[in-house]
Amino acid sequence: MPKALPGNDLLPPSPLLRMTDVEHSGPNWIVRADGPPHAACPTCGRVSRSRHSAYVRTLKDLPAVGAVVSLNIRVSRWRCVAPACAVRFFADRLPGVADLRGRRTCRANVVARLIGYALGGRAGERLTTRIGLPVSNDTLLRGVKQGARLTTAAAQAQVIGVDEWAKRKGRTCGTIMVDLERHTVIDVLDEHSTEAVEQWLVAHPAIHTICRDRNGRYAKAARRAAPAAQQVSDRFHLVQNLRETIERELALHRAYLRVRMTAHSLPNGPPPAPLVDLPVCPPVARERRLPPARRLATQTEIGRQLRQTDQNLFDTFKALQATGAPISVIAQQLGCNRRRLDKWTTQRTLPARQKRHPPPGSAEAFREYLRQRWDAGYRNGRLLFDEIHALGYAGTHKTLNKLVSPWRRGNVAFERAANEMTIPTPPPAVLTDPTERQVSPHIAAALLTTPRPELTGPNAQIVDALKAGCPGYAVMRSLMMGFRAILKQSPPTPATTTRTPIRTVTALHRWMDRARATGIALIQNFESQLQRDILAVEAAVTERWSNGPVEGQVNRLKMLKRQMYGRAGVELLRARLIPLPVEPTVLQRE
Ligand SMILES: [Zn+2]
Repeated sequence: MPKALPGNDLLPPSPLLRMTDVEHSGPNWIVRADGPPHAACPTCGRVSRSRHSAYVRTLKDLPAVGAVVSLNIRVSRWRCVAPACAVRFFADRLPGVADLRGRRTCRANVVARLIGYALGGRAGERLTTRIGLPVSNDTLLRGVKQGARLTTAAAQAQVIGVDEWAKRKGRTCGTIMVDLERHTVIDVLDEHSTEAVEQWLVAHPAIHTICRDRNGRYAKAARRAAPAAQQVSDRFHLVQNLRETIERELALHRAYLRVRMTAHSLPNGPPPAPLVDLPVCPPVARERRLPPARRLATQTEIGRQLRQTDQNLFDTFKALQATGAPISVIAQQLGCNRRRLDKWTTQRTLPARQKRHPPPGSAEAFREYLRQRWDAGYRNGRLLFDEIHALGYAGTHKTLNKLVSPWRRGNVAFERAANEMTIPTPPPAVLTDPTERQVSPHIAAALLTTPRPELTGPNAQIVDALKAGCPGYAVMRSLMMGFRAILKQSPPTPATTTRTPIRTVTALHRWMDRARATGIALIQNFESQLQRDILAVEAAVTERWSNGPVEGQVNRLKMLKRQMYGRAGVELLRARLIPLPVEPTVLQRE
């Protein structure tokens, strides 16, 4: 007897069905069942046994041992027997078995939705076909989107983290909202404007804590839409911002970022020359804020030093190349990338650094054009805005103003201010000693955030050399360590459920006093940024919330986007990020 499959257990659990037959037809199974012997009118509720006609409804059900299972149910059309009822005929409905016009049983739909959620359309279609529950790409995605529309996750959230995600890298951004208590995505928005987030927050009044990064558009949206909600500045971003500040400061002292490595790290190099005295630290700039002229001058100075370092490296390389040493040995001696030197072998002069193209639509992309117009006497901000707007400028008046304001300040006064910078003049840079190695500001800043026990031997050597030789390095390292310690959160244990906020907030303010007292302009600038956002920064110290889970979800979003070859719309991304609503357990029998 080949058809010995268990009887009623094959059917979806419902008192309405009675199995009559199972047939193996080709590779597939057909399960036949009868519908109910009577039905209640959907309008008046009166039970009718007066059958008008019968027909067979075919539904795809869960597969059996890899084969497609068709459920053929004999259902009826009934006459309504209530004389006053407006309905004359009605068809059997099969609640819990299938939707009114569905082509699959409810339990097959649940499985299809889970597969669509986990794999997306195409991969889902391949899998469902393979396991005997064929569902098309479109149907799978429609199911996932339907599921997401039913979710109530956002309504329950009280503590959220907000961050942006790149729709097209570096061009346009969307916003992601994460429930920080449940660690789940609750919404994905198409844009990252203050207005969009503001609207969203107004629609979700239960939220009382908002974790976000720097004091930007999300902070503004939260202040407007939920003024009573507590804002928490994200700890990771605070530390990162400080590290970037320090990196910029270090870029102003490139000439001091040169360290002597000991002989054992240079196996083939010549014997080390006697140690020369490290340059003496000059005093650092003592300016509280950075006016536009100074900011531009800082940038110019960073650029000039970068070119100078490159030039020195190039000259040294050329000198070593002339001795006939192999490139690999030179690369090791100079501690720089071999591929970079390969490019230099045939060049006589240092090639210009490739400038990154400004993103199209940004103010920077119109700099040349604006400068021409400016020099021709067209200096009205509104008119300039209209002009470049017509040419495709996608930014704001404010950004445009930021670009032209240094020009507006009157060239003479501005140039003079820029020239009177108190940035220390670096000592003459000579990189002729092959035991010396140039450390990039990026590496120097990264080393400064690494606690000593975690430093490798050579890195510890670099840190020591920089502490001794680079202006402000020791101070900044101590500031960085202090800042991290203040923001470092130990997870609350049952014994200590809360931290002692007063102590840590006090520590934060003491740290800020120290930062102000350093006299390092960029550090002071960072401190005044903290001051402007002080409530949220204090909350970052006292509250346990942080945007760590949000970062994780942004990574998941990127993964999903890649999986869908970058073509997924926001609605689909949202549907696949928000957890599926909990389904009734239609898959198991009671
Ligand atoms: Zn009726």
